[in-house]
Amino acid sequence: MQFSQPALVLRRTPYQNSSMILNILTREEGRLGLMAKGLRRSKSPNRASLAGYHTVLVHYKKKQNSGLALLNSAEIIRGRHVVGMRSAAVSAVHVIYETLYRNMPEHDPDAMLFDIVTEYLDGLDQGNSVLEHTALVLGKILKQLGYGWDLSHCVGCGVEQGFNYFSVRRGGVLCNACGQPHKNRLFQLSSALCQIMRSLEYPLEHKLLSAREWQVFYGIGQACMAFHSSRKMVSDKLFRQVVDIPLSLGPWNAHDTQRD
Ligand SMILES: [Zn+2]
Repeated sequence: MQFSQPALVLRRTPYQNSSMILNILTREEGRLGLMAKGLRRSKSPNRASLAGYHTVLVHYKKKQNSGLALLNSAEIIRGRHVVGMRSAAVSAVHVIYETLYRNMPEHDPDAMLFDIVTEYLDGLDQGNSVLEHTALVLGKILKQLGYGWDLSHCVGCGVEQGFNYFSVRRGGVLCNACGQPHKNRLFQLSSALCQIMRSLEYPLEHKLLSAREWQVFYGIGQACMAFHSSRKMVSDKLFRQVVDIPLSLGPWNAHDTQRD
């Protein structure tokens, strides 16, 4: 059977002499693998279309009872060439794609997640600030995967305001009294950061968060993802180098990300 649908290419793995196995994300069918025969030959017309940040229309066929679908052709339907010229944006896309590749089961479509990711890519292509929008999209992906955080009350004592810390292991906020004794293992929160973590919307007043607070927000997202998927993202380290985020903010250091 023949299929055609819009897709994002999450990952390309060389296969044998001239082929590649693509891992794509689609709106209707979720994440799936495609065999692209001859893709690595320099004259293959499909090659350039399959850079990760474009939305491509893929045409492929599936045989009954056979695992991997076979790519016929692909063309760009939403090009995002600006992303390719911004090294921080390229690096951020790797982080988001690795997150999706590691955490989304195959053939389990999530249309809203697909839309969240394409909207994020459009934003990067329009020149949106990379760290801010990557921190926000990580938060949205966590929520969509069912790993969202609870910011309604202190996970220690239940008070409903005045949160100073975030615990990855408990997936929620702590008040000063509950967090203080363990503060070395917790992320420090401001009320502004708390508010943005709750809304997951980009603040209209740009000055609402400091650069440091955005770094903390990104670090929390990565730590939560690493906690739930039991692994750290390889691409995270490179992204941190590019946008200058200390490794101490996140799963690479002594935060309370160990499972009990
Ligand atoms: Zn408390």
